[in-house]
Amino acid sequence: MSNSFELETYSPPDKHKRPDVLLVAPENLQRKSSESLADKFIAEIVALVSQSNLNHWVHDLSAFHTRHTKSTYINQVKTWLVNQFKSFGYTNVGLHQYNREGYQLGNVICSKQGTEQNAKILILCAHCDCIMENPHDAEARAPGADDNATGVSVMLELARILARVDTEDTIQFIAFTGEEQGLWGSTAYAQYVQDNNINLHRLINLDQIGYPPNDFSIIVERDEGNQVSNNDQPSQHFGNLMVQMAADHTNMPTKLGPIYGSDYMPFEARGYVVIGAYEAGHNPNYHSSNDTPDTVDYSYVADVARMTLAIILYETGALMSLLSVRDIAARCLNKFPPISFRRDIYGGDDPQIRSLREQLKLILDNC
Ligand SMILES: [Zn+2]
Repeated sequence: MSNSFELETYSPPDKHKRPDVLLVAPENLQRKSSESLADKFIAEIVALVSQSNLNHWVHDLSAFHTRHTKSTYINQVKTWLVNQFKSFGYTNVGLHQYNREGYQLGNVICSKQGTEQNAKILILCAHCDCIMENPHDAEARAPGADDNATGVSVMLELARILARVDTEDTIQFIAFTGEEQGLWGSTAYAQYVQDNNINLHRLINLDQIGYPPNDFSIIVERDEGNQVSNNDQPSQHFGNLMVQMAADHTNMPTKLGPIYGSDYMPFEARGYVVIGAYEAGHNPNYHSSNDTPDTVDYSYVADVARMTLAIILYETGALMSLLSVRDIAARCLNKFPPISFRRDIYGGDDPQIRSLREQLKLILDNC
């Protein structure tokens, strides 16, 4: 049990105040999805993203009178989230409890166990709380659709799809509370991860992903400095990979920007490798009662879901033989051991993998 009195504090975040860092256009985006087996596999799974699910979940979350962390409604929100995860077939779903300013609070965590021994962990997180013009008014109507029912809806949709795919690494889907008060839930959990030597490898944070600009672009947020320096380069590599996934599996342009003002910050401060996605549009409804589900662009949310799903499949070593791929007849799969994407996707030169890939290609051509 970590002592919350010793945790660092963060100001209530304001995503409309970006640090004085220019957004830059990514390079090296020529590569579109190739005809490689691994790309086909990712494309098959990415095709499972349902825009109507995302729409429904944003509406469901916005229908709570408020999701203010200090309101009485936050417990109903947590129960609803736990039940959603369980409905996808997960059994390891629970609360990480913490105390702050006299409030007994919790983050909702759904864990999907990886197939490897001592599997590394990837966290996909989004804050489920919301806030209004007056941050202290816990009882006012607060739909919080873009901020951040959109991020939570993508997390749920990816949990639904990934329940059917085995991955080498463990994935934790986390809905944080207390974000709007100053990253309370994520700070408590980051401390828990550190105190317990949890093998956290990568973290992806989704916060406000439903309000596109005219060019429909998304900002991929990477770590450029902040508290720890040796996690910057892996974060930038990971961000570049997400940019590539957007190019390969969506028509959504990307911009590279900094991390700031959301739940990845306490993890960055402890040296972990984090990235985020954030809308490039300037949402005038931010933190107001106008942040309603009808102002969200669901095709944009769906593209963020596809981009995020693709990078998770890649990074966690999704095992392609364990899901039926339309292109590959089931009978072909029985003859071969699983292939991990991480080793296969960009043509690693391990001779065993290469020969396996060649054999599979032969079979594909003849299926
Ligand atoms: Zn937010």
